[in-house]
Amino acid sequence: MIRAIVVGAAGRMGGTVVRTIHETDGIEVKGAVERPDHPLLDHDVGQVAGLGEIGIPLMGDLERVIEKGDVVIDFTSPAVSMRSLEVTSGSGVAAVIGSTGFNPQQMERVAQLARKTRCVLSPNMSVGVNVMFTLAAEIARILGDEYDVEILEAHHRFKKDSPSGTAMKLGEIVASALNRDLDDVGVFGRKGVVGERKSQEIGMQAIRAGDIVGDHTVIFGGLGERLELTHRAHSRENFARGAIKAAKWVITQPNGLYDMGDVLGLK
Ligand code: NAD
Repeated sequence: MIRAIVVGAAGRMGGTVVRTIHETDGIEVKGAVERPDHPLLDHDVGQVAGLGEIGIPLMGDLERVIEKGDVVIDFTSPAVSMRSLEVTSGSGVAAVIGSTGFNPQQMERVAQLARKTRCVLSPNMSVGVNVMFTLAAEIARILGDEYDVEILEAHHRFKKDSPSGTAMKLGEIVASALNRDLDDVGVFGRKGVVGERKSQEIGMQAIRAGDIVGDHTVIFGGLGERLELTHRAHSRENFARGAIKAAKWVITQPNGLYDMGDVLGLK
């Protein structure tokens, strides 16, 4: 039985991970962590997640429960997830990080820490989105520079980072397939008299509304036609299922930084 510690366990994703682990064979919740000032600290995490009591209290410090786990599953924020990686690093406990919005300096630090632990980090744990990553690169290579690339994403009103980590990753993948650098060609929203679109641009538009779980579309626009690749998440459960798949996979791997492409054998 794999022992999981869920960090951010009272959050939207954390709660979904707790509920999904509860109905998955071969893995159980052995620890639950929240921010030290969370009002539900010491409450049973099963109750917090709407499952009823499971005998695991919500703790304010990962270090106090780390020895109870084989893997930490963390959906919080880059700063909190980096702290989780520092705690798992060298402890033998693996990490699955779902937080999004890491900046390049933070990613460098993550890569350093992952030398001393096994870590899957992915801005989108869904199987469908990871297949989309592979397909987007393939389509970009086939269509080449003749087709304009625009990426649209839509999420719920509570999302803090923009564009989504998934949209950024789609942008990087397509840019790389077209021998471009997203830092040079990314256009994040347009307003005013911006002039004609440059052929190398990769546009990004972010919509925030209501309770949209997460939609992503890559438009490849040619003259007289366009091809659209779309993924829509219907619930958070698909991310949680992906994170559990990653947890089961990563505990058998050598130290290093992996993504869902590795977990799903898409590379
Ligand atoms: P949320 O705000 O509902 O949950 C985050 C939780 O982290 C909160 O409960 C918060 O109290 C907790 N937290 C804050 N500081 C903490 C600390 N020091 N220690 C422990 N817990 C702490 O947000 P959410 O919608 O669940 O999203 C969380 C993250 O996951 C975001 O970065 C989001 O973009 C990302 N996300 C990733 C995927 C994916 O597939 N990779 C899918 C959905 C969301």
